[in-house]
Amino acid sequence: MPTERERLLQHLAPTSNSPIGLEISRAEGVYMFDPSGRRYLDLIAGISVSNVGHRHPKVVEAIKTQADKHLHLMVYGEYVQSPQIRFANELTEVLPPNLNSVYFVNSGSEAVEGAIKLARKATARKGLICFENAYHGSSNGALSLMGNEEFKHPFYPLLPETSTIRHNNFDDLKAITKETAAVFLETIQGEAGIRVPSADFMQALRKQCNDTGALLVLDEIQCGFGRTGKMFAFEHFDIVPDILLLAKGMGGGMPIGAFIASKELMSTLSHNPILGHITTFGGHPVSCAAGSACLSVIRENDLAQEAERKGQLFRKLLTNNEVREIRGKGLMLAVQLRDSEQLFAAIDRCIENGIVTDWFLFCDSAMRIAPPLTISEEEIAEACRIINESI
Ligand code: PMP
Repeated sequence: MPTERERLLQHLAPTSNSPIGLEISRAEGVYMFDPSGRRYLDLIAGISVSNVGHRHPKVVEAIKTQADKHLHLMVYGEYVQSPQIRFANELTEVLPPNLNSVYFVNSGSEAVEGAIKLARKATARKGLICFENAYHGSSNGALSLMGNEEFKHPFYPLLPETSTIRHNNFDDLKAITKETAAVFLETIQGEAGIRVPSADFMQALRKQCNDTGALLVLDEIQCGFGRTGKMFAFEHFDIVPDILLLAKGMGGGMPIGAFIASKELMSTLSHNPILGHITTFGGHPVSCAAGSACLSVIRENDLAQEAERKGQLFRKLLTNNEVREIRGKGLMLAVQLRDSEQLFAAIDRCIENGIVTDWFLFCDSAMRIAPPLTISEEEIAEACRIINESI
């Protein structure tokens, strides 16, 4: 009989020849457990998804309560479904006044796709600008905004009239013109290996968008919901986007995403043609119920503030001399090592010692540190001890 691990690649389409292949049968808080009961401390939270930990009791309760009422009823936007309305209201409460209209989708990539369509229709312009080493998703539109040729190359032709500029580079802002519909930027770049722009750059970017009428779209799919020490990472830079993209940590472990803009901007999607942007499952009632519970856990427990404090603790305790640099904010960190060989050996040893971490799509020499924001100080100390030893 083949093991579950061997069966992984039998009928499940692969994404690489070397999946991590950990077999996890249960997860709780910051821990995941294999079938023998061995536990792993999760330092990546399913790539910034489980911000409130795995199976947070309030999230699980909300899921069960909603499942007892109804599951899918109708395509997005037609019926009054209270979990959607409640969650949209709660999201707008924690956002600036211009971000008051929430379009729910199922994933990060779909949020990007919706924003591309919204920006082009609302501005009647075509140009889209993204940044070097940007990752916005794998669907065709999102891939068109990827700042890495190697990953895009086999999939051309992608969307026309897209261009890539350098991150944190003031000169390149000149590429944003009156032809530009929108500029897409991860507020803090994730797969680039965690790159934090300067506040001056973010303000100059906002100003260039204002001056040219280009819409500023901030992708907080990875950096939102408390991860960087603020509820949303744009709060670090004293700017507000025209369109905000959310997913991942939004549903407390359930699939959901959103693009959020002003009512005025968003209304352009509802006419000429009507139903120009629709989704069957977007804003699934169970995901919205989970999202509401997740947001209240983040707010009630000040998890954003906790992320800031706990990120500092990681920085203090990761003392191995081989660590070249620690980049990031809050609990969105990249630990820069010498090269990929050193990193992969360290990651293997961490996993052998019960700590799950990984690398970044466009930076395979830095270790990802993005645990649930609920991780305790003792757990951080234990993780850092093992990482220091593993390096
Ligand atoms: N944007 C960013 C910044 C991301 O990190 C990701 C996923 N890693 C996406 C978009 C795409 O999200 P999804 O995988 O849910 O489509």
